[in-house]
Amino acid sequence: MDKLNHTMGVHAGREDLRELGVHALPLDMSTTYPVASLEQGTQSLDELVAGKSEADNPVYARLFNPGVARYEKALAAAEGAQAAVAFSSGMAALTAAVLATRERGNHIVAVRPIYGTTDHLLTSGLLGNDISWVEPHAIADAVRDDTAFVLIETPGNPTLELIDIADVVAQSGDVPVIVDSTFATPVLQRPIEHGAAMVMHSATKFLGGHGDVIAGIMACSEEWAAKLRQVRVATGALLHPWAAYLLHRSLPTLKLRIERAQAVAGELVRRLADDPRVERVYYPGLDDQDGKDLLERQMDGPGCVLSFDVVGGYANAAEVISRVRLMTPAVSLGSVDTLIQHPAGLTHRVVDENDRADCGIREGLLRLSVGLEEVEDLWADLDQALSAAGQNRSQAA
Ligand SMILES: *Cc1c(COP(=O)(O)O)cnc(C)c1O
Repeated sequence: MDKLNHTMGVHAGREDLRELGVHALPLDMSTTYPVASLEQGTQSLDELVAGKSEADNPVYARLFNPGVARYEKALAAAEGAQAAVAFSSGMAALTAAVLATRERGNHIVAVRPIYGTTDHLLTSGLLGNDISWVEPHAIADAVRDDTAFVLIETPGNPTLELIDIADVVAQSGDVPVIVDSTFATPVLQRPIEHGAAMVMHSATKFLGGHGDVIAGIMACSEEWAAKLRQVRVATGALLHPWAAYLLHRSLPTLKLRIERAQAVAGELVRRLADDPRVERVYYPGLDDQDGKDLLERQMDGPGCVLSFDVVGGYANAAEVISRVRLMTPAVSLGSVDTLIQHPAGLTHRVVDENDRADCGIREGLLRLSVGLEEVEDLWADLDQALSAAGQNRSQAA
């Protein structure tokens, strides 16, 4: 299957526009739809409630929206998947996966570190699930008859470790593997090709790309998609048509944005790795990073997110965050502007302190989601913030 190239990015999911006689994506805000006959309405309703991807009549917007369906088609193509199902957020997509796989059992196997709220959702048992947190090599021993799915995130958040998707799939046997591929996007990684059953994205991040939409999407087989749609119809965690419009509008520039931000990130990594104010840099492909060889086998590039331990621990990391002027001190990632955040204090605060430490999230760790700015401007900002933090420390000493 074709990879997401610039042509696909520009045209995917827009196949019916010429026939409709429009150039830009149409936005259908209807909550309900007139039925041509009761018979048509009844049949369409039955089909959509059963999880079909479309029907003659949408009936009601909780069942179907044409703009959302166009974006789903585009993302399925980008991931090399049969289908994709969009949700109101990344967490809504994961929740739907937990519910859609429930008939297999309620045990989940997952690997840390992982997105903080994913960790929290699965550990808290809010959805009535049981969870085993394991190292990537111990998955085969952890899966049971009642394991609903295995969940991994690669590159992982926030330490950017890579996990071998094909190896995890082999260890999992007939248990479906879900890969949170938010950090990679389909530009850099296509987990379906490595055997994953479902690929999850917080589309809030790079897929949206402009920091103005919360959304989630799951790419998978038509069989899993039908189950996910059943859950979505029943629970209502829908993607709003306007959000789908924004996501689809961002798709033509996704590859350009990733390539640009990745180039900038690479240069910042080189400078930070040589900087005495920094203890360690985390970025796929670096020498002291786990899974270095995987980068070549599994990905088309290391991505646009990097992390680093600041010399001086928590106090200096906090100082850097408060000193940056060009970078935005904020959680989230994947926007056109550069965001900097402190995982232990923000995104991974909901994870137990010992669990955080166990999976390498240190108190001086900062995570940078690199945007599209000029590298010299970003470096000047980081440089002055690191120096100010260092000065503070020597004054204190
Ligand atoms: C943000 C994020 C999520 C959660 O997505 P929301 O859209 O915020 O619900 C899940 N996984 C990863 C890797 C994320 O970065």
